[in-house]
Amino acid sequence: MEVKGLTIKKIKELLGQREVSLSDLLNSYQKNIKKDNARRNIFLEIFDNRENIKKVEKKISRGEEAPLLGIPIALKDNILAEGRKASAGSRILEGFVSSYDSTVVEKLKEAGAILVGRTNMDEFAMGSSTENSAFGVTRNPHDEERVAGGSSGGSAAAVASDMCTVALGSDTGGSIRQPASFCGVVGLKTTYGAVSRYGLIAMASSLDQIGPIANCVSDAEAIFNIIKGRDKMDSTSYYPDKPPAVREKIRIGVPRDLIEIDGLDESVRKNFEESLGKLKDLGFEIKDISLPNAKAALAVYYIIVPAEVSSNLARFDGVKYGLKMEGGNLLEDYMLTRARGFGREARRRILIGTYVLSAGYYDSYYGKAIAARNRIRKDFDEVFDSVDLVATPTTPTPAFKIGEKANDPLQMYLADIFTVSANIAGLPAISLPSGFSSVSGKDLPLGLQFIGRPYEENTLFKAGKRFTGEV
Ligand code: GLN
Repeated sequence: MEVKGLTIKKIKELLGQREVSLSDLLNSYQKNIKKDNARRNIFLEIFDNRENIKKVEKKISRGEEAPLLGIPIALKDNILAEGRKASAGSRILEGFVSSYDSTVVEKLKEAGAILVGRTNMDEFAMGSSTENSAFGVTRNPHDEERVAGGSSGGSAAAVASDMCTVALGSDTGGSIRQPASFCGVVGLKTTYGAVSRYGLIAMASSLDQIGPIANCVSDAEAIFNIIKGRDKMDSTSYYPDKPPAVREKIRIGVPRDLIEIDGLDESVRKNFEESLGKLKDLGFEIKDISLPNAKAALAVYYIIVPAEVSSNLARFDGVKYGLKMEGGNLLEDYMLTRARGFGREARRRILIGTYVLSAGYYDSYYGKAIAARNRIRKDFDEVFDSVDLVATPTTPTPAFKIGEKANDPLQMYLADIFTVSANIAGLPAISLPSGFSSVSGKDLPLGLQFIGRPYEENTLFKAGKRFTGEV
């Protein structure tokens, strides 16, 4: 059977009416994995699922109902599932097997999903291209000479290569939306706290969120509705029982001061203006707004993230998890393990983070970044008095060539210029496929981003479905 672009709804129909069997469905996805995975380096591991598949088959044949019954879902390599390896794209977790399910995995299993495997990512989710993975780069399905984006590049490429229906990623500064945009699929970063982080290997805990990457907005919504909610295992989690109502006429703000940057690709600018035109034709109210402090978001992000990274990664010392190198004494064990286990970007951020948190510099770096973070939050609060969504391109350029930015961290960081503010302010945001840029004979996907008020994912879904023509 053809699984290209299949949605959850369609699969449920096909399985429910016995038009296809679960094994036919999964075999078709497996075929794509066999055809392309070795070259594109998308999955680090395909799970052996025979037991679970049998169980789900029985449920289907008994006519049982569950929201994701038989839906194949991939997990980013930093999301824990009991009895499965998780390496967060790092050598330091070599041999680590999780002894428990993350809350999101528990919920997906309960909903009847089939977990396909774990996808490649930048080490500890630090990066925008998966070039920081200890296991090699993931190639973009639209042009294999280019990156799939990052850090959830494997998850985005898995959906775009029709190797699964949906994949989970994590987004700290854009890691769901940017690869979704590069691969031409939908990516949702949820309100901070809306989805439990229990069982997500932490990168920067005040920013990390798990979210879906999918073929359409309705699928992202379906997954969100299953994984969201307060969890007693994550004290930062919360979702209101009755989220705010969606307005009839949605008003969209365009932060011109943020978008007009050097380095904005001409094809991205043009596509963004066309998207705004389309939104206007669809009846949305569009107006210019200003987020005067959002320009500082990237600088703020690259203080706060290394600070939290240096603290979160301190636990990987060769004693508790994964890789262990033997030295002459305990200190040498630590040093050898960490020197061998962490890649360059992880080491860079640990060093910067330790520096900005050090007693002598705390006030001038970390303290200032926190103050600026509050300003950026206030900017959003103010604009959300007069608009319901903020629109930007998801990324300043289409997917770049493998190796193009690998030796220039500052250039690489710029890939997230439009996405980081949502994390800094804790807001929900979605990336929607918005068209293509034709580069040397290849059509490279582009994305449109909407940012919303806290817990107003439903507004993102409504506007997103209208924009993509789902309703
Ligand atoms: N590319 C950004 C970084 O390197 C974002 C990563 C993420 O969202 N996990 O930090």
